[in-house]
Amino acid sequence: MPSRDGNGWVRCALGHRHWGRFGAAGLLAFVTSGPVLLQRRTWWSHHGGTWGLPGGARDSHESALAAALREAAEECEVPPDAVHPRGVFTDDHGGWSYTTVLAEAQEPFVVHADDDETDEVAWLPLHDVKGLDLHPGLAARWPELSRELSPVTIVIDGANVVGSRPDGWWRDRAGAAVRLRGELAPLVRQGITELPEDARQALAAEHANGEESDRRRTDRGRDDADRAADGLTRMRWLPDVVLVVEGAARPAAAAPDAGPVQVVAAPGSGDDTIAALAAQTAGRRVVVTADRELRERCVAVGAAVTGPSWLFGRL
Ligand SMILES: [Zn+2]
Repeated sequence: MPSRDGNGWVRCALGHRHWGRFGAAGLLAFVTSGPVLLQRRTWWSHHGGTWGLPGGARDSHESALAAALREAAEECEVPPDAVHPRGVFTDDHGGWSYTTVLAEAQEPFVVHADDDETDEVAWLPLHDVKGLDLHPGLAARWPELSRELSPVTIVIDGANVVGSRPDGWWRDRAGAAVRLRGELAPLVRQGITELPEDARQALAAEHANGEESDRRRTDRGRDDADRAADGLTRMRWLPDVVLVVEGAARPAAAAPDAGPVQVVAAPGSGDDTIAALAAQTAGRRVVVTADRELRERCVAVGAAVTGPSWLFGRL
């Protein structure tokens, strides 16, 4: 039997009472450009009758990711393999935190309200969510969370990035690409806590009409203003990383021990392959290159672009 030592009330540094001695975690499952999975708590539970996320107390030995998936499986029969974690949003009150795991589903899967405390669980259209009676914790963070409901893919111009460090790469181009692949693995395994600023703007613009953008700016201003009184929030993205290699570096795509970074050998020009990935990859794309012409091609198809120095700052 698992220990379940997280059950219990605590008081956070902001003076609230919360459930979960080691914090709590919830699952925000979404289909990109589609519905989100929410559950409604039964009337007698804490904030009964409101819509929120499947989730609950973390145990002392448990990561937020593991807790969110366990609770979602227990409460709604979410199959752990049916979702792909794309981000982790932490709302830290000091002495207690709530972690939202944003997880992508390829399509809505069948769910059941499996728990005494759950009245209903459903896939709901994204645009209906703000009209619902939401759990106050979810309502407070919905403006931020709703911006993050699509995967992030980082596409790396291997020739340009490798070439920007004079480390002898010209003696073995494939070997240099394999070394870069190894350096990139932690971006996938541990995620990143910063996106390039122009990436965030491009992503926001893509996702909204004018009225929504105005509301979002207002929300952001308010978030910044009352952050001191309202705890600290932090987003960690779990991106897909694609390294594009060309010419003499192409054998890197077939090198053993691939790890989590996908290496694509460009059949012709690396720029053409990168521009095609920028155009065709679903969700949000960040292209890493200093090449001015390639930058323009990628921006034209809605990708965000940043330079190698941003990438080296994350490694
Ligand atoms: Zn609190």
